Amino acid sequence: MRGLRSLVFPPSCPLCGLEDSEGCRECFDSWRITPAIRLIDAIPIFSPVLYDTRARSVVLGAKERSERLSRSFIVEAISSVIERIDPGNALVLVPIPSSRRAMRKRGDDFLARVVDEVAIKNPRRLGRLSLLDFKKEVLDQSGLSIQNRANNLNGSLHISKRVRHQLRDLPPLVIIDDVLTTGSTMRAAIAALQAAPELRIIAGVTACRSDWF
Ligand SMILES: [Zn+2]
Repeated sequence: MRGLRSLVFPPSCPLCGLEDSEGCRECFDSWRITPAIRLIDAIPIFSPVLYDTRARSVVLGAKERSERLSRSFIVEAISSVIERIDPGNALVLVPIPSSRRAMRKRGDDFLARVVDEVAIKNPRRLGRLSLLDFKKEVLDQSGLSIQNRANNLNGSLHISKRVRHQLRDLPPLVIIDDVLTTGSTMRAAIAALQAAPELRIIAGVTACRSDWF
């Protein structure tokens, strides 16, 4: 179905609508701006793009409709920051997992795909490990207040049982998410990973940041 759709509607730039199978370099350069850094529990979180109306449509296109070009904008934004974190040294990218609710709705793990595409750009340096799982069902964050978001996610993540035997001698970790809003998700991920003393978190990276915190 997706293949059929792209035959009928050729892939177009998610920002200006121009038909161009490689995306729009100019639009991408206008979209990406200087990384903003926020500290969460003493870990620097880098978020290059302001989550405005355009960024929101790119994220939704990538996430809800699996649009390849929209996803490539997110991959590029995250890669642009990863290149500058501890350059030349190995990193392990850890995606925030999709909630079971989101997996049921979309049928694929959007961030795991994004992280795979970031890692494949530099496979000798970057690895991907899905270390985290939700330990309880969480509500959809979008309709919740700041306080309710924090309560909803507090203690919601833990290190997946599947990977507990793989924690020794890992390169430093970088946690990856699509949008930083209140920081509740990032905080829950940091807390979950810090529970394992053999892990070292060096940074978090999100493609976008909202400006309302
Ligand atoms: Zn464009």
